Amino acid sequence: MMISLDHVTKVYRHAEHAAVSDVSIAIDKGEFTFLVGPSGSGKSTLIRLILREERATRGRIDVLGHNLSTISSRKVPFYRRKLGVVFQDFRLLTNKSAAENIAFSLEVTGRSRGYIRQAVPDVLRLVGLDGLGDQMPNELSGGEQQRVAIARAVVTKPDLLLADEPTGNLDPDTSRGIMTLLERINAGGTTVVMATHDTDTVNRMRRRVIELERGRLVRDEDRAGYEVAR
Ligand code: ADP
Repeated sequence: MMISLDHVTKVYRHAEHAAVSDVSIAIDKGEFTFLVGPSGSGKSTLIRLILREERATRGRIDVLGHNLSTISSRKVPFYRRKLGVVFQDFRLLTNKSAAENIAFSLEVTGRSRGYIRQAVPDVLRLVGLDGLGDQMPNELSGGEQQRVAIARAVVTKPDLLLADEPTGNLDPDTSRGIMTLLERINAGGTTVVMATHDTDTVNRMRRRVIELERGRLVRDEDRAGYEVAR
């Protein structure tokens, strides 16, 4: 089991309601899972719990063999290096080129310069940005910036890729390209968990859908779609 949540509840300090309420989920290696629900339903909180940026108030979370309730603070940075993360707003370092952004995530994990010199062009090719390594983030389109962010997240070969609304700032065409890329990464063996409220994307992909409503799990279905009541 890659991710296991057992009766997990998260109540933020000073909050009246639980952001995540009694959620139990098991995600296997190699799965592609959508986490859906309206804004405020708890998707980002679940991602932050899995990243161990937040701690569960109740219940137990295990990821990649680590019990996140008992993992020591000293080990958390090492734990996080096993995960890749992508966000809606890309979060690239604006003063570094595309290639430098990607190289940086390898430098942090102590890879050699020789390794980095080879790995960066390889991953740029993988994400369809061949030849754009020297561009600065502000010289790239939104879709290209998200490809850089994805390259940076996967260049360390994580077992698990977490994506929080990765297509949220992109037009439908560009979103489709990003989803094709995430599908390809998943086909290579990386487990993908993607939070989104984009019904079109979910309906096109027909993957496992875990739906939240006010912090509660209301649906967990394979090869599913996503409808929003209007
Ligand atoms: P989603 O990602 O589905 O939009 P969130 O996980 O961001 O949902 O939010 C779930 C609930 O938790 C919301 O009611 C939100 O206002 C609340 N919340 C999120 N982050 C915090 C925080 N840092 N402190 C207090 N409440 C928060």
